[in-house]
Amino acid sequence: MRVALVTVGDELLAGDTVNTNAAWLGRKLADRGVDVERVTVVPDREGDIARVVNEYRAEYDAVLVTGGLGPTHDDLTMDAVAAAFGTETAESEAVYEWLAEDGYAREDLSEGTAHIPRGAEMLENPEGVAPGCVIGTVYVLPGVPAEMKAMFELVADRFEGEPIYTETVVADEPESRLVDRVARVREEFDVDVGSYPGETVRLKVRGSDERAVASAAAWLRERVEPAG
Ligand code: ATP
Ligand code: MG
Repeated sequence: MRVALVTVGDELLAGDTVNTNAAWLGRKLADRGVDVERVTVVPDREGDIARVVNEYRAEYDAVLVTGGLGPTHDDLTMDAVAAAFGTETAESEAVYEWLAEDGYAREDLSEGTAHIPRGAEMLENPEGVAPGCVIGTVYVLPGVPAEMKAMFELVADRFEGEPIYTETVVADEPESRLVDRVARVREEFDVDVGSYPGETVRLKVRGSDERAVASAAAWLRERVEPAG
């Protein structure tokens, strides 16, 4: 399964907020064996959101959008996603029913709170009042990290790929010197190897065959300068 993430918010582009939603979702999805192939940050601008959602839903098995959900003037995601599907938002009875269970009367909610794209499935927000939704293969989640995480957990089971195993080997050598061994381990075993330099180099061995990953990691450990 290949997915794309679209994170919405001027504050992310300006660097005022660090895009922890993308990092958290990337990790969660990778753990489920799902390939995250794009992470895009877009401004709070309806046309930009709609365009990228449309492009990605044509290309990937699913698209996850976070941010810009609330009913305030800069929250345009629901309208944009509706536009990407050639429709509009409308009040959802399912949203009113869910909020009523949480003790919110219809008349107390600010205008727009219950609007989701026509034809979308509502997603409850376990941590807030702004609902999310699923329309086609597009999942719309809140921007507030705690809300986004809680809502993602409700649909996490819909994201499944081949289980991926990983092992990390730390090498106390310059990355450039490791090139030959990384090339050889990839030839000999059915694995991918990521190389992440810092003070030491972390070689991350990944693959769908648990034994191949373990063997490849052991092969590398015998042949690199150990750290520490
Ligand atoms: P609300 O209903 O409160 O308006 P929302 O779904 O509309 O929530 P935003 O308005 O986009 O979300 O953002 C709410 C808060 O979450 C802001 O403080 C914002 O900086 C933060 N936030 C939004 N997107 C991200 C992200 N990708 N990573 C981390 N924090 C984020
Ligand atoms: Mg908002």
